[in-house]
Amino acid sequence: MNKPVRVRFAPSPTGPLHIGGVRTALFNYLFAKKHKGTFVLRIEDTDQNRYVEGAEDYIVESLNWCGIPFDEGVGKNEKFGPYRQSERKHLYKQYADELIEKGHAYYAFDTSETLDFHRKDHEAKGKTFIYNWHNRLKLSNSLSLSAEETKAKLDAGEDYVIRFKSPQDETLHLKDIIRGDIKIDTNVLDDKVLFKSDGMPTYHLANIVDDHLMEISHVIRGEEWLPSLALHYQLYDAFGWDAPEFAHLPLILKPTGKGKLSKRDGDKLGFPVFPLEWTDPKTGDVSRGYKEDGYFADAMINFLSFLGWNPGTEQEIFNLDELINAFSLERVSKSGAQFDPDKIKWFNHHYMQEQDNHDLAISFQDLRAELKEIDAQYIEMVIALIKERATFVSDFWDLSHFFFVTPKEFDEKASKKAIKEDTADILSKVKELINGVEDFTVDNLQTTVKGWITSNEIGFGKVMMPLRLALVGALQGPDVFDIIYMIGKAETLKRIDHLITLN
Ligand code: GLU
Repeated sequence: MNKPVRVRFAPSPTGPLHIGGVRTALFNYLFAKKHKGTFVLRIEDTDQNRYVEGAEDYIVESLNWCGIPFDEGVGKNEKFGPYRQSERKHLYKQYADELIEKGHAYYAFDTSETLDFHRKDHEAKGKTFIYNWHNRLKLSNSLSLSAEETKAKLDAGEDYVIRFKSPQDETLHLKDIIRGDIKIDTNVLDDKVLFKSDGMPTYHLANIVDDHLMEISHVIRGEEWLPSLALHYQLYDAFGWDAPEFAHLPLILKPTGKGKLSKRDGDKLGFPVFPLEWTDPKTGDVSRGYKEDGYFADAMINFLSFLGWNPGTEQEIFNLDELINAFSLERVSKSGAQFDPDKIKWFNHHYMQEQDNHDLAISFQDLRAELKEIDAQYIEMVIALIKERATFVSDFWDLSHFFFVTPKEFDEKASKKAIKEDTADILSKVKELINGVEDFTVDNLQTTVKGWITSNEIGFGKVMMPLRLALVGALQGPDVFDIIYMIGKAETLKRIDHLITLN
């Protein structure tokens, strides 16, 4: 690769960033970092009707939370700025004019009523109306009208659009890094609108001009843009510019594998499709976010990296640096990637084990009011004992409440299983043993109690089950001796007593 790698993520701020958008941003980021390149964020906000308040900030916050911040964009290393297309609108007209001068584009004056009429008329005949070489001379444009007529219309301030003049009878040879060579017959292409009389370029023109001016070397974007590739190639050609390389990422499919993943799938099946929580500024509707649902950013990144890419080995756990190392567009697949909400839980469970216990303790304290006054170090020790079984911080309380509060009830089924006729006697003895342990360590507790069980040839279950029940209220939890050590001698004796008096 000779040119420096410069890639861009170019979202339109029309709402919160969908998980598919985050995947596109991630693949751009990984590719940029792998090739010591630059990751640009460009805001494509030329369609003012679809502009949504807060969406741009949401996009930036999402990239930051995911740990894949842009190198260049609004407010950061602005050497190719501005990075909002709405602030670049003065730039585009000259390029549309250039295409007209070169004969690659033309003014079209057809009203929306006329176009609608043709569309419906074609539909009625079972055909599709395409505005291109086969009918453009029958429509109202600067190719069908004389130069004077065209000028008169423009001078009179008539509404117009500028359309690209798609060639007839040519075969285009497009290249896509993921999909290989693609051949397109230009006769099926329509003369796409590049510019509107409201002074705004369409996506196609603005996108190509900006990619060129921002010296973008690789365009990595979603498959939904593949149908635009032919036009984009032709635009580069018409301007006489070198086209960047293209890579169209596969669709993200519903968990069933059928159809594109949508926001509604998330609502229906109970998982977020957005990285962060989003409140719609108009309706006030709140959409769940992965962050607020308790997912770790590194789990999400690892999960997303496998949506359409694989390393070609069995390895599934990759931190960001490992991803950067392993990533290549050649290993991105053409076929759609099925979204599996259970798989991201699996990743979250893995990354839970790697989180710093101090950070987890803070999140846990934020979640439960009863932990506010409890020593952070104690909470960290508890977390170390239970996190192995947790996927989310919100699982912690169920797994650990007995470290903080005395169990009030004993699980019925567990009681039936654990409590036998001689349980009270056994527990009284265990109480005595524990009381006698001077140097209160896990080891000493274990040796004392287990030693007694062995030398008296009592079944382990007969002792350990009721003991656990007394401490936890159920037959779950980490090692009994860890629990005893953590809650301390007085509390342990109190809990054992409580179970004895109940029986
Ligand atoms: N603004 C387009 C979008 O919202 C960008 C497409 C592209 O990357 O070319 O996805």
